[in-house]
Amino acid sequence: MTSPSKKPRSTFPGIVLHLPRWVTEFLGRCGADYPAVSDRMRLVIELSRLNVENGTGGPFAAAVFDRRTHVLLAPGINMVTSAGFSVAHAEVMAILIAQKLLGTHDLGWKDTQGYEIVSSTEPCAMCQGAIVWSGLRSLVCGATGGDACRIGFDEGPKPRNWVKQFRSRGISVTRNVCREEAVAVLQAYKRQGGPVYNGRRPVE
Ligand SMILES: [Zn+2]
Repeated sequence: MTSPSKKPRSTFPGIVLHLPRWVTEFLGRCGADYPAVSDRMRLVIELSRLNVENGTGGPFAAAVFDRRTHVLLAPGINMVTSAGFSVAHAEVMAILIAQKLLGTHDLGWKDTQGYEIVSSTEPCAMCQGAIVWSGLRSLVCGATGGDACRIGFDEGPKPRNWVKQFRSRGISVTRNVCREEAVAVLQAYKRQGGPVYNGRRPVE
């Protein structure tokens, strides 16, 4: 409790997140549409690799695509350490940018095809929630949650039957797309001693 002589501060900061410049420079050299799911995943894996190379976050990336045209709508990279926000995971960044571009919180409003998120690693507990609330209709994953755990990251308390839960909500799930290529980025990150952070603390 605040003592009576002290008042809460009168202003609070707004929240601003910008993708690093290298993301737009890289995508400016890439195509716009990716009909093959493996091509969509390889673009995302390359973003995860470049995120490590540029020192702008953890070895994770994601992107939102139009499900019908397979055109890239919004990229996302893990920016936890560079932005100083624990929620700045790749999936959250891609969802926020997609929603900003479309001017709506509901990425499923437009039609039944909707949007797909491609994630270099299966989403953690937080990102699973973010995907469910976003209205996205499809999730494509590269590396597994277990692959992320093996290099020390914490996936959080995910329901054991999360794939079934997603599908029961009308969100299709495709796993293990280019998994070995996605895992190679995780392993390279560990080899070079990249910081592995998570909120886990000893139980008292
Ligand atoms: Zn996450």
